[in-house]
Amino acid sequence: MNEQTQLNLILSQISSESLYSLLSDIEQDVLYVLNPMGVLTDISPNFEKITGLKKKEWIGKNIKDIIVPQDYPLAFKQFISLKQGKTPKPIELRIKTKTGVCIGKFFTKPILNKKKVIGMIGVAKDVTVQKEQTYTHSKNQLIDIFQHVADGVTVQDSEGKLILVNDAAAISAGYRSADDMLKDQSVWMSRFNLEDEKGNPFLLSNLPGRKVLNGEPKAEATFKFIDKTTQEERWVILKSRPIFDVMGKLNMVINIMHDITKHKKQEERKEEFMSMASHELKTPLTSINIYLDILKKRLKKQDTTNTIFITKIEKQMNKLMKLVSDLLDISRIKAGKINYKMESFDIGEIINEVTEPLREMNLKHSIQHGKFKKIFVYGDKYRINQVLTNLLSNAIKYSPDGGKIIISINENKDEVVISIKDQGIGIDSKHHKKIFERMYQINKDSERTFPGLGIGLYISAEIIKRHNGAIWVESNKGKGTTFYFSLLKIKTN
Ligand code: ADP
Repeated sequence: MNEQTQLNLILSQISSESLYSLLSDIEQDVLYVLNPMGVLTDISPNFEKITGLKKKEWIGKNIKDIIVPQDYPLAFKQFISLKQGKTPKPIELRIKTKTGVCIGKFFTKPILNKKKVIGMIGVAKDVTVQKEQTYTHSKNQLIDIFQHVADGVTVQDSEGKLILVNDAAAISAGYRSADDMLKDQSVWMSRFNLEDEKGNPFLLSNLPGRKVLNGEPKAEATFKFIDKTTQEERWVILKSRPIFDVMGKLNMVINIMHDITKHKKQEERKEEFMSMASHELKTPLTSINIYLDILKKRLKKQDTTNTIFITKIEKQMNKLMKLVSDLLDISRIKAGKINYKMESFDIGEIINEVTEPLREMNLKHSIQHGKFKKIFVYGDKYRINQVLTNLLSNAIKYSPDGGKIIISINENKDEVVISIKDQGIGIDSKHHKKIFERMYQINKDSERTFPGLGIGLYISAEIIKRHNGAIWVESNKGKGTTFYFSLLKIKTN
């Protein structure tokens, strides 16, 4: 006897006990039978009342075609244990009906014949109304919470129209209440100018809600509202996420607006302080440096022993000067105020300029490069010197055991690539991108071993970016590091 005949035999016994007729009297319960492949082979008649679909439209369908896609994983897990002959716990699944979706609680058991699963039988209860009541209750609770959160929250429908707004959102958009905002949704556009973090106009097409409506899975933006009449400014971070219906179609977009004005103002004050402090420090330091130079020259004529101390002071002074000018650069970068004096120059010459004084310092490192041929690039000599100085001093600093530092130049048709290779402590690949961020240091706790502020690479990357070049690193922890940067070449013919 094959599996289907065995199943039919068992089912005829069930029907003869009039189980179907019994169940058709209990309105919300449905009896169903599946074959071992998960295909519906029989279903009790009251099912038609619940789903609005004819029995013949369902027989022969796989359970996969009956439930909504979001419930596949749950149904699949249950199907696996049924196939293994186990009786799993009841589960709730959403079923496609003629007009939409209903929720059923399914309790299924395997039909076993000599320990072999020859089919499955189960009872389902329609729990849609019960679920909807719980849903409405939780929805009301959510709306209550939503009205009272401090952040502004708005919900748009799939056309972009606002359908829900809390008071916090309405007030920050210049309305008196959430109702006012829902009545006239575009007032805020005429009241405020929007600006991005660089001070450029923030385009409405960049609003995260619009991006999500256009298919992005999530979007966020930081911008400020400037009141056209009072000039009052307010900074916000706006985050948007889509909400899909059970069929996976975009249903709504939820936008959360967080006011960061206080934080931004603090940041601005900090930047301003940094900029002022470094500026004020630079002037006296420059005069000390000049007097130090005069003193050194005079002392040299009389007594050579004390010049050692002057040289030591000079070394520390140079470190201090470099630190102060880096801090000044940071504020200038932030304000977009670094001026570049662009000209054509020989890159090899600049490399020699940077390496010569380092060689004179008698380091335990050996700085090596061949004789460079003349290659002209277009850029700011002083700033490229600064990049090379940063990369070379890092190569020295992060090779505490000394070793070779090799500088090379490679060129192709349009650009030159300068590389600085050391044999130092190396950098794990997970830090390769981040080290170019402001104040990023791999191990902040090693301040004593490797002092610094984590700004040299940030400044270097900004400078190279402004030269339309690229800067990158190749390295592995413990295996040395090579930094590269590229510059556009001046074509000689
Ligand atoms: P600083 O050296 O002042 O900390 P940088 O911006 O110059 O700041 O470098 C950022 C971080 O990158 C350093 O803290 C260090 O961890 C890592 N780093 C930079 N250059 C090297 C190098 N040549 N070898 C190993 N690590 C390096």
